[in-house]
Parts: sequence; structure tokens; C-alpha cells
Amino acid sequence: MMMKTPQTKTYEMLWDCAYCNTAKLLGKTHRFCPNCGAQQEANKRYYPADDEKVAVEDHRYIGADKTCAACQTANAADAAFCMQCGAALSDAIQVKSLRAELQSARKPFKQSKQNQSDKLETPPVVKKSRQFLFLWLGLAAVVLLAVVVLAVFWTKVQTLVVTGHHWSRAVLVEDYAPRHESAWCEQLPQQAYALSRKQETRSYQQIADGEVCQTQRLDQGDGTYVEKELCQPKYRREPVYADKCYYQIDRWAYARTITAKGDDLQPYWPKVQLQCANQPRIGCEREQERTAEYTVILQNQQQQAYDCPVAQEKWQSLANNSTWTAEIGKLLNDIRCDSLQPLD
Ligand SMILES: [Zn+2]
Ligand SMILES: [Zn+2]
Repeated sequence: MMMKTPQTKTYEMLWDCAYCNTAKLLGKTHRFCPNCGAQQEANKRYYPADDEKVAVEDHRYIGADKTCAACQTANAADAAFCMQCGAALSDAIQVKSLRAELQSARKPFKQSKQNQSDKLETPPVVKKSRQFLFLWLGLAAVVLLAVVVLAVFWTKVQTLVVTGHHWSRAVLVEDYAPRHESAWCEQLPQQAYALSRKQETRSYQQIADGEVCQTQRLDQGDGTYVEKELCQPKYRREPVYADKCYYQIDRWAYARTITAKGDDLQPYWPKVQLQCANQPRIGCEREQERTAEYTVILQNQQQQAYDCPVAQEKWQSLANNSTWTAEIGKLLNDIRCDSLQPLD
């Protein structure tokens, strides 16, 4: 993803003297506090602010510092003996480096300073109310889940008596007529007429548009850090236009429904009369689809009624006044029609 080899530059890390409180001492230059002579605590080095950076000229990196096991002084990686107490550094431990840090890209310094003061004033309040919001949302989700689980699984088996039946059958009819349609002009159907075209957005294209850069700071562990410029290409979205065709075309499409229904056990199909049946001429009709629904009406001992849509075969077998059992949801008093079974 990187566009060019990053430019690197080396700067001093900073540290504060814990004994005399002298702040912003240089990580590489000041191995000891120039004010009181205390040794540098290598593990408390930090990255400087942008306007406090001190460059290191001609820096040769030999590795992270080692901490003397005897006196805790940080020594250069290539030292064999501690510069403070003279102990051998053979089992000295490497200084802990700071995590690499990304600075937000290319902001004028003034603006970033203003952001900092904004941050100091507002965030604690915002954070707290957000935490509460998440807590409440989480709680609401748990309650909702519990209700859903109860509604689905908390059931009782009840005895039901068949008190009635209902059926409805329908024939869907389509007719041949002019329809308004549209398509990309290169995919225009041959039978289209009454044509008009318009330019419209067909898709979007990613177009290279410069790059976004960020500065990365990398603690080298020897009192210095390097700054790297990390750049990634940036894109912008641009519409791609094409000709859209609006036209009329003669086609079959849904026109009307003919239904028959009843409350007995003798369903029949409605009489279907079609205009010049099945001919592809304007105004002619043909059958599109047939559908049917069969419902049984049941009652429990408390005279509560339930409807169950069932397959025709099962529907025929549910004789009036016959007794059945079914699971009924305790929370919503809804019948589970799949569980409908003859008693014994
Ligand atoms: Zn000091
Ligand atoms: Zn030492």
C-alpha cells in the first residue's frame, strides 16, 4: 500500500528527573540529570510534543540500551561494563521501548492545540453518559431476549374441539397489454416501442486522488526515536453515466383474481372465463396461478377460538366435534398448528 520509501529522521526521546523535577531532559544526550546528577530512568522516556523535538544528527543506531543489573543505569548496547558502577553487562536486560505511535496527519499545529484543550473539558461527562447508555441498551436486549424465548418455548398442551371449517380457492389471471419499462439502452428488448432516453448514473468508479500521510514515531530504546512518514493512496468516487431507455412493450402481467370460498368441507374451483384465452394479443387473458387455503376453527374448554391453516388432506380429516390436542403459547395465547394431534 505504501507509495514511496518513507523519509526517516531521528530525534531525542525525553525524560523527567524524579529527584529534582527537572523536566524534558534529552534521552540520548543526558544519561544523567545535568542538574542533580541522578541517573536516567530509561523506562520512563516519552515522545516530545511537536514543538519540543530535538534532532539527532548523524545518528548511528547500534541497538536498544541495556539496564545494569547492579545499579539500574541504562547503558549503550555496545558497552561491556556499566559506565556508572563498572559492573559487567553480560546479563543486563534490554530497556523497554515505547509502543509505536501514529500522529494524526498534517494538521496545522494551532488547530491540534485547540483540540487538546477541547478534549480536556468535555470527554469525562460524555464518556460516563455513554457508558450508562450501553448498560441500559444491554439490559434492554437481555430482557427482550428473555421475552422472546418465553413467548416461543413457554407452552401448555390443551384439548380442543373442532367447531368449523373454512376454505378459499383463487385463480390468478394475467392479461396481455402494453407495459412501461426501462433498461440500459444496450440491453433494449427488440419489441420495445415509444422510446425515450436519458443519461443516468450506472455505477461508480474509484479515481486516484493524491495520498493521506501520517507520521509514525518509533522508540529505538537508546534514547532516540525515528519519525517515519506513512502515506497511503486516497481515492474519490465518481459516477459513470450511461443511456437509460424508457419504453413500452406488450407483455403478460397479473390482471385479476377469481375466488371461491365456503365454510363447509366441499371446496371447489371458481369458474374461469377468459378473454380470447392464451393468445398474445392486446386484451387477451390466460391463467397465471392457482392458490388454495384451508382453515380449521377449534375451541378450548373456556370457549376460546383458534384458527389453524392446514394442508387440505389434514383439513378433511378434522371432522366437526372431533377432539384434538395442541400446544398453546402461555404468553401470547397463540396456537402452534404443527402440534395439532388427535386425542389418543
Ligand atoms: Zn535531577
Ligand atoms: Zn551499574
